[in-house]
Amino acid sequence: MSTARSLAELSPEDPSPVETAAEKPASRIVDMHVHFDEKKSGFLDDLLKLADRINLTACLLTPFAYRQVVADAAKQHPRQIVPFGFVELDAPDVARQVEELHSLGFRGLGELEFVKKPYNDPSYFPVYELANRYGWIVLFHTGIVLRRNFDEPEDVASGRMRPIYIEEIARRFPKITVVGAHCGNPEYEWAAEIARWNPNVFFDLSGSTLTKMRGRLAEFQRIFWWSSLDWSVRTPDHDPSAFVKLVFGSDTDLSSIESAVNQYRAFFDACEIPERTRRMIMGETLAKMLGLPE
Ligand SMILES: [Zn+2]
Repeated sequence: MSTARSLAELSPEDPSPVETAAEKPASRIVDMHVHFDEKKSGFLDDLLKLADRINLTACLLTPFAYRQVVADAAKQHPRQIVPFGFVELDAPDVARQVEELHSLGFRGLGELEFVKKPYNDPSYFPVYELANRYGWIVLFHTGIVLRRNFDEPEDVASGRMRPIYIEEIARRFPKITVVGAHCGNPEYEWAAEIARWNPNVFFDLSGSTLTKMRGRLAEFQRIFWWSSLDWSVRTPDHDPSAFVKLVFGSDTDLSSIESAVNQYRAFFDACEIPERTRRMIMGETLAKMLGLPE
């Protein structure tokens, strides 16, 4: 009965829709991790519809080739779309690409991934120097990365994208807000500790983590352990919850963003995260950083 019911409520498979404007206005969701899908025609229209329905702002991770169409859409719909540039750190003209993205009004970079060298390699510093000058948010893939082709050789290794590398970037380039995608999966402990000591480091919990951990989400209380311990590090709004170092990211198709929201909510319940901190994770932290319009 009540136990069964609360277990059901915690299930990430819970199909119940995100509460929407029907009864009460849903609080704003800012999604750090929406990939622009150039293969889906009508993607931007679908995104705008979803944004209006569930009160969503998408940080739209945009391949360089699509920079203009997304820059235009973001200018027209600043409440729904925040443009982020997806560039290859190993491309010979990456610094020029970054400058162009800045001139088009882009607000950051991401998701940086599939690097040929570890993220802290000095050959990538010119890009970080620009991002630092612009005061940008930069989203890095961290942890295990998918295999795109099982039969062909590929120069891709998860070990180059470990969360420890983004600590060095955060410290050398303090005006960058560094967001690690996937919380370093499976190096959650390293990710959390780096977030604890570095005010400009945050993580999202997108990817397989909330599915893998669905039966043991409370374990994150052991990893984000310093709530209310008066840690002498700056946090958004001086929030004392360790979990305030997380931001919402879905990294899914548009049709699955609501499921990702429900997975985050199950995680909030399992870890007894205060209501105020939940709102910050789901959108207020990023909205403030980005100065988003109401
Ligand atoms: Zn990723």
